[in-house]
Amino acid sequence: MEDYKYLFKIVLIGDAGVGKTCLVRRFTQGLFPPGQAATIGVDFMIKTVEIDGERVKLQIWDTAGQEKFRSITQSYYRAANALILVYDVCSQATFDSLPQWISDIESFAKHKVLAYLVGNKIDQINSREVPSYIGKQWADRFEMRFLETSAKDAENVDILFYDIAMELTKDA
Ligand code: GDP
Ligand code: MG
Repeated sequence: MEDYKYLFKIVLIGDAGVGKTCLVRRFTQGLFPPGQAATIGVDFMIKTVEIDGERVKLQIWDTAGQEKFRSITQSYYRAANALILVYDVCSQATFDSLPQWISDIESFAKHKVLAYLVGNKIDQINSREVPSYIGKQWADRFEMRFLETSAKDAENVDILFYDIAMELTKDA
């Protein structure tokens, strides 16, 4: 039987196509699947990490298509110990959706949930539409932590999930 001291649920939200599934895959499997292989048939993936000598099991919930209709259920948010709200730095439209996602967090998630704003696809330097400082301003305004990532190049992906695990174990 697998042994662990803590179990945390991490939930990813954000517009379709921003790279949520790729971020989860990169972290849990070390892969960046080519083409449309990103769809996973399960609702969550597991990875156990070690923080200060303790095993911390992360159950990472990825929305599978529901984000297109913004029909993600209340219970999905409620169960989250941490939320990752992802946009695509190369798509202003996905950044413009943030107020609606934030309003869902405020309505459905636990009060003062640990929340991260993540701008993904920073490897696409020439297609960037959302500057870093704009993302950071938003995150500050809504008391979220901020990171920019590339699921493709693995940039800041481990840091993101380890940071969450560290913050959650601090409060556990
Ligand atoms: P989801 O709908 O939010 O789960 O997005 P996916 O993970 O399915 O990714 C949508 C598309 O963006 C796919 O074609 C991925 O290959 C691509 N993608 C995801 N992450 C990155 C990234 O970091 N860099 C680049 N260049 N493309 C990415
Ligand atoms: Mg997906």
